[in-house]
Amino acid sequence: MARRKYVVGNWKMNGLSASIAEAQAIFAEAQSHASVDVAICPPFTLVGALAAAVPGKAIGGQDCHSAASGAFTGSVAAPMLADVGATVVIVGHSERREAFGESDDDVRAKAEAGLAAGLSVILCVGEPRAIRESGGAIGHVLAQIAGSVPDAFDPQRLAIAYEPIWAIGTGLVPTLADVAAMHGAIRGALTARFGGAAQDMRILYGGSVNGDNAAELLGADDVDGALVGGASLTAAKFVPIIAAADALAG
Ligand code: PEP
Repeated sequence: MARRKYVVGNWKMNGLSASIAEAQAIFAEAQSHASVDVAICPPFTLVGALAAAVPGKAIGGQDCHSAASGAFTGSVAAPMLADVGATVVIVGHSERREAFGESDDDVRAKAEAGLAAGLSVILCVGEPRAIRESGGAIGHVLAQIAGSVPDAFDPQRLAIAYEPIWAIGTGLVPTLADVAAMHGAIRGALTARFGGAAQDMRILYGGSVNGDNAAELLGADDVDGALVGGASLTAAKFVPIIAAADALAG
């Protein structure tokens, strides 16, 4: 079966109660692009309120702890996200890997926690600029995949997001050939490890996706959707990306 396009908004540390109306507008407008799965991952403080405001829509966390509960001041566990209506969680975002020192082992444990709580997982990988420039990008990302993707899961509930770190929030994007080569390499590694099940896993591209470049990026081989930061904060910027994904699915 063909993989449905998947467009996910990562609001990062942006959004107050007033942003709930924006999310409602995004999902309302996305309804006319029914071939696309859409999710929004707001800050923890908004997950419950947003899930309640858009029943049946996919709302997610941007991170979770690997434990289900315990003495981890300030952390949020995957069952807590599920409890307030989240159905998705992002793990291993480069901003967490870099700023919070998360290792592949940590990311894998978080992914396992998310899956165990019944959430769908978006697991992020991506290379820094120096590694891209030295020619080691594919090796770096495949090592992250080997180290952070769990061994057993429903392939439809775990998506990979390839996000070159140097493209996040910078306006820079890799060439289409580089995107296709990376996504093909990721698909190849997943197939070597999981066999035919890898065909059901979605591989998203992330890094400065916007309404102008979405059609091209999402049309590249093995690109099944997008993880979007800055351009996901408003309906005016996010819906054109969803529309571009919908046009490709047709
Ligand atoms: C991200 O935060 O995952 C991201 C891709 O950000 P941006 O779209 O702003 O580059």
